[in-house]
Amino acid sequence: EAFNAAVAASDPLNAFLVKTPERALEAADRIDAKRAKGEDLGSMGGVPIGMKDLFCTDGVETTAASAILGGFTPRYESTVSQNLWDAGATMLGKLNMDQFAMGSSNETSAFGNVISPWRKSDGGNAAMSPGGSSGGTAAAVSARLCPAATGTDTGGSIRQPAAFTGITGVKPTYGRCSRWGTIAFASSLDQAGPMARDVADCAIMLGAMAGFDPKDSTSLDMHVPDWEAALSDDLSGKRVGIPREYRMDGTDSQILDSWEQGKQWLKDAGAEIVDISLPHTKYALPAYYIIAPAEASSNLARYDGVRYGLRDLPDGAGLQDMYAATRAEGFGDEVKRRVMIGTYVLSAGFYDAYYTQAQKVRTLVARDFEQAWEKCDVILAPTCPTASFALGSLDDDPLTMYLNDVFAVPASLAGLPAMSVPCGLNGDGLPLGLQLVGKPFDEQGVLNAGLAIE
Ligand code: GLN
Repeated sequence: EAFNAAVAASDPLNAFLVKTPERALEAADRIDAKRAKGEDLGSMGGVPIGMKDLFCTDGVETTAASAILGGFTPRYESTVSQNLWDAGATMLGKLNMDQFAMGSSNETSAFGNVISPWRKSDGGNAAMSPGGSSGGTAAAVSARLCPAATGTDTGGSIRQPAAFTGITGVKPTYGRCSRWGTIAFASSLDQAGPMARDVADCAIMLGAMAGFDPKDSTSLDMHVPDWEAALSDDLSGKRVGIPREYRMDGTDSQILDSWEQGKQWLKDAGAEIVDISLPHTKYALPAYYIIAPAEASSNLARYDGVRYGLRDLPDGAGLQDMYAATRAEGFGDEVKRRVMIGTYVLSAGFYDAYYTQAQKVRTLVARDFEQAWEKCDVILAPTCPTASFALGSLDDDPLTMYLNDVFAVPASLAGLPAMSVPCGLNGDGLPLGLQLVGKPFDEQGVLNAGLAIE
């Protein structure tokens, strides 16, 4: 009831697209009944969470914050959300996000910007971005509207909003969490993960979300360890790699200072700090902005006015006119930009020059990491090159917006587990995050290093 009340009063943040207070109370009653019978409540027993609106929820409208899915109510439940309900979690509602998870500021939602609960200490009262695309999740957890919520990360969308709002977010190894029932953006990159107040909560929630799912052909058929039970901030014998290519021009000096501080904390926890090189880092972002739109243009072809949500059928129009009218009306500008870029890089004349080339770069980026693992066990870097910015300040500058993910995208291309953990405030009183990247399947190493920083 307390969380329902907080959510009901949260409209100024615009974090929730759908509120499900009755559903949360019914679930709470079920948990009470179990408790009375002495039954196991599950690892998330009774924990009220928010669901990013990219996850299909049976009987609850799911739009991915796009007008083209207006009124779409799935008749099925995503595997990740089902796993969470099976572990005893309850749902407070569906969270706002960048439209189809495309964005870094939560300004591409068809249902309005999400407002960060944070303000600059001396910067007037300018509304700040919670980051994106999991901006509703970040704002809701940061404002304590819910103890935890789901995010998805294709090229930084868990880590960057976590950093912008002072919370913890984990993108697991690609394949850990099933993509079934999660609205697709770029299928070879999309991963679900937890966003919560601290490392332990993320470890518990990830344990509930993860697991093999035969309905997703890229799902990992691997045991899900008890990450929470094995949490330890003793890093003796661990080597932490500092990638020299992440010292980029334009990175805020306070972010570089926080990186130094992070090194010291990990050293204090017993780790050895080693310099490493990831030579193809600067090609990762351009490759991502070819591969992700390419996959998006294919995945989004299904929104045609026939199968889901919006249909715009002008009088006397034929099928082609309906497709065009529906897509023109239903997709936002950023989505259209990605569909056009993606269609272009996949077109017959340009496929090799762009798409094939980007895939080769992706392999080189992944190999950089493979070589780095010979020298270190986990990598420490900033999550983002800047702290949060005022909403509207990057409206005419999509390239600077894309640069937000420059440190996040390499781990996405390589499918590696990574997290952002809060490391303090900058001079403006805004949160900063540090990123940890681990070997494939080594969520534990990432979480433990995060624990040593938190
Ligand atoms: N901000 C990046 C993009 O716009 C990443 C998005 C994501 O991870 N979903 O593509």
